[in-house]
Amino acid sequence: MFAIDHAATALLIKRRFPSAPMTWLLVSVQAMELAWVALNYLGIERTTTESTVHSVADIHLAYMPYSHSVGIALISALAAWLIIEKGFHRAVLGRAVGLGIVTHLILDLLTHGHDIVLWPGLTSPKLGLGLYESAPFVAFIVELTYGIFCWRVYRGSRGLLALIVIGNLANLSFLSPIIPGPESYLAGRPLLLVTVVFLQIVVTLVLVGVLARRTDFTYHPGRISSGESS
Ligand SMILES: [Zn+2]
Repeated sequence: MFAIDHAATALLIKRRFPSAPMTWLLVSVQAMELAWVALNYLGIERTTTESTVHSVADIHLAYMPYSHSVGIALISALAAWLIIEKGFHRAVLGRAVGLGIVTHLILDLLTHGHDIVLWPGLTSPKLGLGLYESAPFVAFIVELTYGIFCWRVYRGSRGLLALIVIGNLANLSFLSPIIPGPESYLAGRPLLLVTVVFLQIVVTLVLVGVLARRTDFTYHPGRISSGESS
């Protein structure tokens, strides 16, 4: 899933755990991707491209068993939950962060090609519904709808909605081989791709965090109110 929709997931979690600080939620939903960026820079994980790149189907997440395997993601989520809840006595935050980490895995399984293994060292099965490869326009509609759903549940501002819609539209050329876009410059430059993804992560997390603040998130026991809708 693209960065804007992972970031939007933090809105859902914030709605469920209103007292959890948004910054933690934003980092948790992209923790797996941030690990992927670091491990690619370090040469531990590997990304390749076709000689020409027309869409995301020409980009291959060739080796990422540490940042994007089912087992590591679940153990990381469990560890984060237990450490924050038992070690720092912040039960709500622990559950919210653990959930945030798991959502990334679930959303990637829905959209990615077959590139997510169960555990490092296991080469099969490789999981992922493969929407990016088999039905990229469906992936676009699914991601856009999901992003708007997150905004709706959060009851965010119009600015936040605009960010989610524009953030998804900005990915359209990546999902369509017939729409030209900046992805053609990524051919043979996997680390440039990693850098682009990293910048997308940072920009979307910051903007979602800033625009989400415009919702007055006052928590009352038994009732959650949003200033813009009440
Ligand atoms: Zn990912």
